[in-house]
Amino acid sequence: MHDFHAHSTYSDGSAFRPMLEAAVEAGLEGVGFADHCSLTTDPGWRRQRDRFARHFDLTYERRRAALEQLREEYDIAIYDAVEVDYEPGLEDDIRSFLAEGEFDYALGSVHYVGDHVAFASEDFSSPDAPEPAAFVADYYDAVIRLVESELFDVAAHVDLVEAHPQLAGLRSDEHVERLVDALAESRTVPEVNAKRAKRDGKPDFHPSDDLFDALVERGVRFTVGTDTHRPEEFAGRTESLRAFVDERGLDPVSPV
Ligand SMILES: [Zn+2]
Ligand SMILES: [Zn+2]
Repeated sequence: MHDFHAHSTYSDGSAFRPMLEAAVEAGLEGVGFADHCSLTTDPGWRRQRDRFARHFDLTYERRRAALEQLREEYDIAIYDAVEVDYEPGLEDDIRSFLAEGEFDYALGSVHYVGDHVAFASEDFSSPDAPEPAAFVADYYDAVIRLVESELFDVAAHVDLVEAHPQLAGLRSDEHVERLVDALAESRTVPEVNAKRAKRDGKPDFHPSDDLFDALVERGVRFTVGTDTHRPEEFAGRTESLRAFVDERGLDPVSPV
């Protein structure tokens, strides 16, 4: 199996050697480094870009040179990929960057909407936070636009908000239907993302089971990714993904 979604120190992941050794140890035949990149023009997010190591548009050529050296050393396929923060309105900038970057493939992700992130660090009960259901609606609207933009090979963790305890279960049937329609018609494939696997001891994935089933019913295919940031995450997530692929009879798409 190939893992098409891992992070290095070129964003918020770990050093190449421990990551590659752990990937080999986990029995993977290939690993794609898809470091975070934000091209945002929003002043607030722009200030955070360096702090959260999302300035990969300035460093990808250095990483490319490193990966070339590592390919000579490791007996595993190593892909030169990117995970771009999608933001509605930024399509032209993202298109230019991807054309210039010539990556093996590109993941697109929605991690924030407006001024707020979809991660557990965001407390949606605080007074300045948006109303949770409204945030979830805006999140899915953005993911649908990401898919319709046709900019990306892969749509990463399409239901990320489901991992937030204050946001889970708030999506509407209408949003699910529109997302399924968009993915059924797009060149962009969703990924089965194992970031949540083994949380609380039970495997759990993006997309959630009901969304996964709805997509399969429409003939949508999937790629796979562990979204590993630390070497010790590879083994458990790879094992969970492998079990999921076997159980569901999935034939993962290679975005390369
Ligand atoms: Zn992500
Ligand atoms: Zn990621």
